[in-house]
Amino acid sequence: MRIDPFSLSLSTPLETAAGTIDERRGFLVRLDIDGTPGLGEATPLPGWTESLDDCEAALRDVADPEAALDSGRLDGTPAARHGVSLAALDARARAADVPLYRYLGADSRIERVPVNATVGDDDAKATAEAAADAVAEGYPAVKLKVGSRSLSEDIDRLEAVRQRCPDIELRADANGAWDRETAERALSAFADLDVAFVEQPLPADDLSGHAALSGGTVGIALDEGLHEHGIDAVLEAGATDVVVCKPMALGGIDRAADVARRALDEGLDVVVTTTIDGAVARAAAVHLAAALPRVRACGLATRSLLVEDIRENVAPIRSGAAVVPQGKGNIPPS
Ligand SMILES: [Mg+2]
Repeated sequence: MRIDPFSLSLSTPLETAAGTIDERRGFLVRLDIDGTPGLGEATPLPGWTESLDDCEAALRDVADPEAALDSGRLDGTPAARHGVSLAALDARARAADVPLYRYLGADSRIERVPVNATVGDDDAKATAEAAADAVAEGYPAVKLKVGSRSLSEDIDRLEAVRQRCPDIELRADANGAWDRETAERALSAFADLDVAFVEQPLPADDLSGHAALSGGTVGIALDEGLHEHGIDAVLEAGATDVVVCKPMALGGIDRAADVARRALDEGLDVVVTTTIDGAVARAAAVHLAAALPRVRACGLATRSLLVEDIRENVAPIRSGAAVVPQGKGNIPPS
């Protein structure tokens, strides 16, 4: 197995709970299974996966990739496991002569996966403009960041978007910013604006709070909460209507597929989302979304957040959908 470090600058610094991120650093993982090459990507994200150093150490420790995956030795380093498992899946799909999404279980050709546009935390006028641009580009859904302004300002922003874009699917992501009372007020106001769901209204640890909010007119999606508690506890608590699957944080495309299928089996909805990864992991996330029997518009339109990329973009966004690569494996290995 060979690993090659890379570093990608973000076009705009990203504010996260774990601090400001202005670049994405990670490793390309190359291996061979019975003579067939496979390519994977391990791009750790602070707060969601192991650190860059721990990721590198875990990768350098892998002598036999398949044995490392089977033994569970990479389970504590999800980004490293993502890189190795993706490289192995890529090689196996290539050897089977099918695109990765077919290898992952899709039984027919899938051309496109609908994606959402994400609109930042601007004032009402600018937010409505950005949403209107997304509609003009063909996006079926728009996600607004909420929770850093007052609730009344956020309601004004959503109202402005709804007026300007009467037919778009509207979502909001609070990233855990609200307390229970604010979340309840938000959900009742958002119901009048036909908001489809709110992602992570409450802090990640408040599973019972999310359980109390879910199942209403405005759905609940769990992102940080899934990461903190795992799918078993989330399903057990009935804590969500929509599950946000981030393959890099879940330890691989295979693991994310398991989580997504368990959620779908329970009648929940699924959104597949990147963690602002390079072209290899983004393409894999598109394959995963294409392999699932149903997904809501996914958070896969993240190439534009990067200044440059590690590979040609084989899954570009066109008219609000990711084009599903039809070549063998994930993407061409070199
Ligand atoms: Mg989120």
